[in-house]
Amino acid sequence: MRLPIMAGNWKMNLDHVEANGLVQKLAWTLKDMKHDAKRSEVVVLPPFTDLRTVQTLIEGDKLPIGFGAQDVSTHESGAYTGEVSAGMLAKLNCQYVVVGHSERRQYHNETDAIVREKVSKVLSAGMIPIVCVGEGLDIRKEGAQVPYTLEQVQGSLRGLPGEDIAKVVIAYEPVWAIGTGEVATPEDAQEVCGAIRRFIAEERHIDVADAVRIQYGGSVKGDNVAEIMAMPDVDGCLVGGASLKAEEFAKIAMFY
Ligand code: PEP
Repeated sequence: MRLPIMAGNWKMNLDHVEANGLVQKLAWTLKDMKHDAKRSEVVVLPPFTDLRTVQTLIEGDKLPIGFGAQDVSTHESGAYTGEVSAGMLAKLNCQYVVVGHSERRQYHNETDAIVREKVSKVLSAGMIPIVCVGEGLDIRKEGAQVPYTLEQVQGSLRGLPGEDIAKVVIAYEPVWAIGTGEVATPEDAQEVCGAIRRFIAEERHIDVADAVRIQYGGSVKGDNVAEIMAMPDVDGCLVGGASLKAEEFAKIAMFY
């Protein structure tokens, strides 16, 4: 069985002091609501500058919350000003790294080839990449969301052994639904998430497809999460705005 994963992408929000406050509040809220860690995994993805603080809090207080980063360098070390390597993130005990978020693809020209390099660096460092894919509004209007997204999946994971693909989390995030309040219908989410799983089964092996966790992302909130999570190929959500509020994110984690 695939453990659902609810990951909060904070984007460029919250300094390390605010991060401390939000993680503490999230942990209390989850405890109060009697969240069952066997029914959903809760992960926060703060900015780089917050990671050490979040690590210290989560590990020190043994909180049932995972954490990771929002991006990583394609390089291992050296003269790459402003970059952060997978090794550095692994040293902070990050478990996850978001790769190829649509904002990185759009504002930093990240191609599938770059995403693929990042995925392989993250896996080599012993962490799990959350690989983002998804179509823009123009592609959706043409009805080409499935082939478009499968091409991104193929381009982002090409060459990886099946055992590595099985560990990866894929986040299907239709770009038109990110931060817009416009949520894909559960059927829209299922159409593409199901197609991704079938594609992996065909290209690799049914066992790999069965193991891989596929998230939906795009304006997920406490009051729409249950219907999305009811879809058979949706194994969690990548959550932006709603992950900045402890109660709302806890409600999402408790979709079951
Ligand atoms: C995201 O940042 O990946 C995201 C899905 O954002 P939001 O939930 O705010 O749409």
